[in-house]
Amino acid sequence: MRLPRFFVSPDVLATDVVRLSGDVAHQIHHVLRLHAGERVMLLDDAGSEYETELLTVTREQVMGRIVERRTVTTEPRAQITLYPALLKADKFEWVLQKGTELGIAAFHPMVTERCVTDDVSAKKLARWRGIVREAAEQCGRGRAPTIAEPMDFMLAVRLLDKHALSLIPHEQAQTHTLRERLQTHTGAHIANLFIGPEGGFTDIEVDVAHRHRVKAVTLGKRILRAETASLVAATIILHEWGELG
Ligand code: SAM
Repeated sequence: MRLPRFFVSPDVLATDVVRLSGDVAHQIHHVLRLHAGERVMLLDDAGSEYETELLTVTREQVMGRIVERRTVTTEPRAQITLYPALLKADKFEWVLQKGTELGIAAFHPMVTERCVTDDVSAKKLARWRGIVREAAEQCGRGRAPTIAEPMDFMLAVRLLDKHALSLIPHEQAQTHTLRERLQTHTGAHIANLFIGPEGGFTDIEVDVAHRHRVKAVTLGKRILRAETASLVAATIILHEWGELG
């Protein structure tokens, strides 16, 4: 049976006998009701997992002993950074959760001209980081994707590495499909993926992206909702690069 997985701070894993606290201890004791002798998998968020036998599980403390350390093999080699425009809360959180399951390496939320919201409090950012951490634990990843502070679209495209493959799916980009762009790409499997908000990108935004070597692509003849477009585009890239299916 698959062991429950938890990201913990690396200093917890510095010795073979570990003390677990906070939310991890709460999950083990109150939620999963695990007992001494049962095992969990602790993750250092740097690509290693530590199979750990529980020694004591009480309201006061959860202690365990690391029995084996392994390298996690589920992380995609492809590095996709998703730049999603901010969406209504539930849709945006869905993108974070499902994008994590698919294998997105990093999220860079963007504020674009047509975003209906640009309000991201520290509390919301912390909630988003909790969502991706939980999704990464649940799907067996060894790293939780990072989430950057929201950034203005115009700044985000200016800061891109000009040698990376940067793509902007856009409904009016009829000349190249995403697959075609991937098939002619010979460089490393690293991609920056820009997805617009509910109202799409403005022509000026697409033009600025073009001037910063972000390539416009179509995802097909039907217009997808923003949250669908993020996941479809990420899926196509991961499949084309041999990371899915
Ligand atoms: N406002 C647009 C309209 O008038 O039809 C729709 C925007 S769509 C809901 C949100 C984002 O998803 C777009 O900015 C684009 O990045 C992406 N998208 C959706 N469907 C797409 C398609 N068929 N091809 C390329 N990009 C697409």
